[in-house]
Amino acid sequence: MSKEKFVTKALDDGAGIVKFAPSWVPRTFLPPGGRMKLAPQDLYTLGVERGGFCERWFASAAPADNGPGTPKDEGMSYIVIKEVSKFNEVLFKDAIDCAGETFIGKAMFKKYKGWPIFSKFYDYLYAIPFHLHLKEEHARKVGRQPKPEAYYFPPQLNAIPGRFPYTFFGLNPSTTKADIKRCLQKWNEGDNGVLNYSKAYTITPGTGWVIPAGILHAPGTLVTYEPQWGSDVASMYQSKVEDRLIPWNNVIKDVPKDHQNDLDYIIDLIDWEVNLDQKFKEHHYVEPKLVRNPKEMEKEGYIEKWVTYGTELFSAKELTVFPKKSVKIKDSAAYGLIVVQGHGTLGGFEIESPTMIRYGELTNDELFVTIGAAKEGVKIENKSSNENLVILKHFGPENPDVPK
Ligand SMILES: [Zn+2]
Repeated sequence: MSKEKFVTKALDDGAGIVKFAPSWVPRTFLPPGGRMKLAPQDLYTLGVERGGFCERWFASAAPADNGPGTPKDEGMSYIVIKEVSKFNEVLFKDAIDCAGETFIGKAMFKKYKGWPIFSKFYDYLYAIPFHLHLKEEHARKVGRQPKPEAYYFPPQLNAIPGRFPYTFFGLNPSTTKADIKRCLQKWNEGDNGVLNYSKAYTITPGTGWVIPAGILHAPGTLVTYEPQWGSDVASMYQSKVEDRLIPWNNVIKDVPKDHQNDLDYIIDLIDWEVNLDQKFKEHHYVEPKLVRNPKEMEKEGYIEKWVTYGTELFSAKELTVFPKKSVKIKDSAAYGLIVVQGHGTLGGFEIESPTMIRYGELTNDELFVTIGAAKEGVKIENKSSNENLVILKHFGPENPDVPK
């Protein structure tokens, strides 16, 4: 079947909704936390040298940047359709190239030439090394896109908070460029002490943060749902996390060749003004916001909250459908979704939050709702008589429904 035919069939079969296969991403710099429901014997299935599966990417048209030996499609979502007993798949990116206007609407496709965001779960055993994602001016120099990101900590995945449920953000207001430069100079002396210049905040299930590019952060060990711009650029500033030494290559992987020994250049990747902000938490911490009057929603059998908002670039909602309720939910924009609790149906699809997933196997927890289907309204039914059905929905830029 040609790509075009496949995409048409997938859209017809699902009435504007398509299903994804899980996209697992390994990382070498830290061990995985093991809480994303992937079977434990599959965590290192690509080989120890490729690292363990620390991330699962959703509705992704962007590849993971895991260095030499990384398959071209790592991190990218595949759309799947079932024909008799056989599964066929096509890259979400190719589907967008074939039928972008149908998937995400004319305006977004024209402006961004594709689906520019994705979301992920990440799940690390240790806190992630203190790092930042490049701003546009620095990303452009290495032919990449900037990476603003947001976090929401789904309660369903965080019964066990891990060993360090605190995140370091930004720099203490008295920090100077010379302080951080000295930390980089001490890279090969064990712990370079960069966290002495930052402050950790408790991170709490059911809350979140919005973090533009250029902000230093060392995310703690909660399982995190992370809507973000579709890019994988980063620079690390911390040389040691617990017993792990971080190779210097992680500092300069997205630094142009002629600046790789230029510590002043690396220091200037930091957005100093925003990192030194005295009111950092006030400006970046996010509590869920109800989509509309809660009494009205409850009467209809559901509750819906914005969990990522306050940026034009992406947004996310958490939808809870109560036991044995059937609802029809409209949105003004296309979205990807992941089911985090319960089971039922969504449009013509059976949906459920899996308990254990084998690597390479399909799930019923991830879909994409095209703009037409979203505007029309999606029928969602919770088939359980006891348990809530909970879904996280990730939207692209300029969703007109997002609160400021
Ligand atoms: Zn980050």
